[in-house]
Amino acid sequence: MSIVFDNSYARDLPGAYVAWRPTQAPAPQMLFLNRALAEELGFDAAAVDGAAGAALFSGNALPDGAEPLAQAYAGHQFGGFSPQLGDGRALLVGEVVDRHGQRRDIAFKGSGRTPFSRGGDGKAAVGPMLREALISEAMHALGIPTTRALAVVATGEPVQREVALPGAVLTRVAASHLRVGTFQYFAARGDIDGLRRLADYAIARHDPALADAPDRPLALLRAVAERQARLIARWMNVGFIHGVMNTDNMTISGETIDYGPCAFLEAYDPATVFSSIDQGGRYAYGNQPLIARWNLARLAEALLPLMADANDEAAVKQAVAQVTTVIDDFPAWYAQALLQGQRAKLGLQQADDGDAALAEDFLSLLQQHAVDFTLAWRRLADAAAGDANPLRALFAEAAAVNPWQQRWQARAERDGGDAAQRAARMRLVNPWIIPRNHRVEEALAAASTQLDLKPFDTLLAALRQPYDEDPARSAYTQPAPAQLTAGYRTFCGT
Ligand code: AMP
Ligand code: MG
Repeated sequence: MSIVFDNSYARDLPGAYVAWRPTQAPAPQMLFLNRALAEELGFDAAAVDGAAGAALFSGNALPDGAEPLAQAYAGHQFGGFSPQLGDGRALLVGEVVDRHGQRRDIAFKGSGRTPFSRGGDGKAAVGPMLREALISEAMHALGIPTTRALAVVATGEPVQREVALPGAVLTRVAASHLRVGTFQYFAARGDIDGLRRLADYAIARHDPALADAPDRPLALLRAVAERQARLIARWMNVGFIHGVMNTDNMTISGETIDYGPCAFLEAYDPATVFSSIDQGGRYAYGNQPLIARWNLARLAEALLPLMADANDEAAVKQAVAQVTTVIDDFPAWYAQALLQGQRAKLGLQQADDGDAALAEDFLSLLQQHAVDFTLAWRRLADAAAGDANPLRALFAEAAAVNPWQQRWQARAERDGGDAAQRAARMRLVNPWIIPRNHRVEEALAAASTQLDLKPFDTLLAALRQPYDEDPARSAYTQPAPAQLTAGYRTFCGT
């Protein structure tokens, strides 16, 4: 298999990684292969399948031109700073330029210990790696920027968790793996040259239009903040809870990364938390915009040494004022992106001053009556098409939604246009199928206990067409029993 690598990270950022090789897998077996993505990357899909693919994506047979390395980064985890985290169980294999001319990282997760492993075993289990594949593919199908899953290979070796689990390696594709934590790593070491090289690299890779901007670090901060504002708004509008928004899990590219304890909302409640380790609810659904801003403030701090000499008090003061403007602008950028998405979900094409309140009041109603977030929006499209009964049926007291619905109806009529077209537009932005927690668990249990991939494959096929109302797939649209959701817990990095 010949892959044309062009490894800019290895070339341009010495000091930001350790060259390292994956651990050999005793009996690799392909569990999941993303053929469409393989083709997008310019790979010969036949050559990456079967035994050859399993050898390739387990790390046993590295292709020519690969320069595997463990990336260094720091990060705030649940608010506490670690100056050195780094790829403890991941490796960047190399970069390719895809068929659209986009540079993409190809990386392994679960490929063994590295110098950054600390106490960990460097391994990953089948369940969590398939989970990342499933949810990241679902996010992609929903049109949300995300890293992608190219392959999951069972290693044939058990990994020891609370019980022994089958091991796996995930091959992940990303616009880059640069994180807020990558900048924090250099800033924490006081390595200003390294920090400058990193900023130049990030700009060249993600914001080439800023190459000649006068205040490049500030412009980079602004670009990252704008991308994150749009990304978090997209999450909120589909009910996605990332679960572990540490600064090492926030990208510079604006892609969603690191699907550990993530999960989707069922009944709407901003306080929803599923992650077992998030006991304070720091990363609850409704906190995500606030946390994004907090993380961006950490990026701003890391960039300050590029903007002012630490000994020049006046210059530092000015730089702090400049980055503060960006951090203070973030809530407005986020609100704007959120509202734009909400207008589309409401089927509206014109802007009206009352739209934010209209959307907010809908959400309050859902919260008050513990109504499923995804189904409520989807059923609103039926109401647009003339049948409000499915929407009403989601409420224990059907009449509870009537006053709001009349308000929305009046607003929709003022917006103008054809009702059928409005309903059709709404069905393109309000998904019918999301990864329901009980469905995900069911598919992963079959895969990891019996290596039975059938439930995984059928669920994945459904998640890849989230907007198509195919009655054959209606089982995937149903929320889990409320009791199950109330006790549902997700886990990090297992
Ligand atoms: P995550 O929560 O997956 O974003 O990981 C946070 C940090 O813990 C990163 O530095 C990971 O490389 C490291 N890590 C997570 N799981 C393991 C493991 N099994 N072995 C070694 N390092 C790990
Ligand atoms: Mg991480």
